[in-house]
Amino acid sequence: MRAISLLYHDVVSKDNLDSSGFPGRDAASYKLEFSQFERHLKAIAKVINYKPVSVFDLVRGVNIQFPFLLTFDDGGSSAHNLIADILESFGWYGHFFITVNYIGTSSFMSNYQIRALKEKGHIIGSHSCSHPMRMSFCSWEELLEEWNTSVKILSNILGEQVSVASIPGGYYSKKVAEAASFAGIKALFSSEPTTRCHYVNGCLVLGRYTLRRETPDNIAAGLASGSLSPQLKQLLFWNSKKIFKTLGGGFYLKMRKFFFEQK
Ligand SMILES: [Zn+2]
Repeated sequence: MRAISLLYHDVVSKDNLDSSGFPGRDAASYKLEFSQFERHLKAIAKVINYKPVSVFDLVRGVNIQFPFLLTFDDGGSSAHNLIADILESFGWYGHFFITVNYIGTSSFMSNYQIRALKEKGHIIGSHSCSHPMRMSFCSWEELLEEWNTSVKILSNILGEQVSVASIPGGYYSKKVAEAASFAGIKALFSSEPTTRCHYVNGCLVLGRYTLRRETPDNIAAGLASGSLSPQLKQLLFWNSKKIFKTLGGGFYLKMRKFFFEQK
């Protein structure tokens, strides 16, 4: 099966980058300004003649010609305060993945806001408890703890079983998916830039294309419509980053921190 999933994070104003989600320059590179996010959606709406679908339709095996999904990571307060309203003005729904240990802290959504999103028809999932820097380096016990506890807390907040999740930091491994499946997760989003989906122990694993602060509107539209050129560009960038991550390990994270601190 193939599906096009886009990965966004927060939507903020230029002079208040830390108002939603994780603080700092690194996180800010994934935060779009309100007008930019609106332009992205307008550009996407122009080139697609289908609506974003729910991942539950894919899990249920509903036959959809062009499965297109919108996802939002971290659980920053802008999900409730800005993003949902813009999506709804297009008649669209999103998947919002919550970092559970940050619920109710400054710049992240509260229990009430998460419930409100769900009541409006959006899909809520886990983005782990602690947002490990390198999820695929966690032990089996740590992975189970991250998935089980986050699913339990979110299920209690929503009053229904949570069964979707996304992996923090893009550190996917089969073990991460196996632990997710163990915790009852039926669909797991990675950050691998691919449309190809696969199953790990009955859990549907989907890749995603990441939209950044500097991503132009036409690239967002190209990715949403399945255009090959922006897909390949992200794949090349991802693979070179992956080699560096594998070779460098912790060094990659230090370099990234250094780079963003220098900017
Ligand atoms: Zn994240």
